[in-house]
Amino acid sequence: MGTETISEIVSNYELTIACEKCGAQSQKTIGWIRLHRDMKCPQCDSVIVLNTSRITATIRSVERRLGDLQSQLTERIRKL
Ligand SMILES: [Zn+2]
Repeated sequence: MGTETISEIVSNYELTIACEKCGAQSQKTIGWIRLHRDMKCPQCDSVIVLNTSRITATIRSVERRLGDLQSQLTERIRKL
C-alpha cells in the first residue's frame, strides 16, 4: 500500500456526472466536485448542478465504503 490516506483516495475517486438535458457523461473526481457548485455540460453547454442530494449521497457512500475497507485492512494487518 502507498502512503495515500483514505481522504486522498476519496478525493481522487472519479464519479460519472450525467447531463440531464442531453445525457452526455463526464468523469470528475470527488475533490473537484467539492470545489465546484456546478459545471457546464461539455456537449450542450447547459448548467449541471453538482451539489445535488444524489451526488452528495454518492460521495458519502464512497467515503463509508473506503472507511470500512481501511478498518478491515487495519484489523487484518494486526492479526498477521
Ligand atoms: Zn448536455
